[in-house]
Amino acid sequence: MKKWMILFLALCLVLWGCSAPVEAQTRTIFAMDTVMELTVYADNEKLLSEAVSRIRELESKLSVTMDGSEIHTVNSAGTAPLSGDTADLLTRALALCASTGGTLDISIYPVVSAWGFTTGEYRIPEKAELETLLGRVNYSAIVLEEGVVSVPEGMQIDLGSVAKGYTGDIISTLLKENGVTSALLNLGGNVQAVGNKPDGMPWRVAVQHPTEDGYLGVLSISDEAAITSGGYERYFTGDDGQTYWHIIDPATGAPVDSGLISVTIVGDSGLICDGLSTALFVMGLEKAAQYWRNAAEEFEAILVTDDGTIYITEGLQGKFTLSENCEDAVLAVITR
Ligand code: ADP
Ligand code: MG
Repeated sequence: MKKWMILFLALCLVLWGCSAPVEAQTRTIFAMDTVMELTVYADNEKLLSEAVSRIRELESKLSVTMDGSEIHTVNSAGTAPLSGDTADLLTRALALCASTGGTLDISIYPVVSAWGFTTGEYRIPEKAELETLLGRVNYSAIVLEEGVVSVPEGMQIDLGSVAKGYTGDIISTLLKENGVTSALLNLGGNVQAVGNKPDGMPWRVAVQHPTEDGYLGVLSISDEAAITSGGYERYFTGDDGQTYWHIIDPATGAPVDSGLISVTIVGDSGLICDGLSTALFVMGLEKAAQYWRNAAEEFEAILVTDDGTIYITEGLQGKFTLSENCEDAVLAVITR
């Protein structure tokens, strides 16, 4: 064979190697009380293992139930030295509590526990009990100084409303730093996309229908998070036939009754999307729309009210498509 032919064949092989699609690698784990699925388009087992260890590490620091976690320690001892991760998340979560006017309140844990959401032993607390517990709820009394957190007697911190979004941000960054340009992280219904699909098109993610089987619609996202808080995720039915869900209105100590049944937030930061999905759920439609108009954070939202109307903020026009079984639903656009 002539030299140039060998060179030509070698070049073909190299080009073929470059254009061959990278196979997806998937890991499914149970962490932070939910099923997590990591789909990464890269031939890098080691990186996936590293991502899984990082999730476990974050869980062991942030968990409210795990003995020895930093949050468990402050909740039982009133004070705890924090790692960089926990201090960073706590600082940013406190800022969100403030910007959302306390509709997000990470000191709500005593109330969440009283309803049995932490153990699954559900009960309906008396009004007087809730009032006493609400006396211990006030995020602004949490003090973080030089990496040490302290809370007043009886106060307990719960980062459950933001921990998965924060974790998604950390894992997305880890993947990008290692050259990944295409990945989809599903952290128990919190979806976070790294880049686009391998073919360069946006990821298409289904948004769960809050009251029916199947989904509400499909969202197109690129390098963004899409995070839903739904009443349907964790709830119980009382002897009175009422549904009680796990998102609590810090103003009343009872499960939120804001007229919203599902809130999806789309944006660059998983942490912010996660916190806002809870906060806007508490706010209700009007206040949520107003928050979106004035917010310092950039995000878009899908809000579903209890009459089945679906509201999207204007930035989602063309990015959200109703599913076939919802084509009769009213779809309204919230404008600036
Ligand atoms: P999920 O974790 O199921 O996706 P959320 O992100 O909305 O749902 O977080 C709900 C969790 O946050 C609850 O399980 C509870 O621990 C906590 N929580 C409930 N209400 C509030 C609130 N108003 N502010 C902050 N945390 C809350
Ligand atoms: Mg949340």
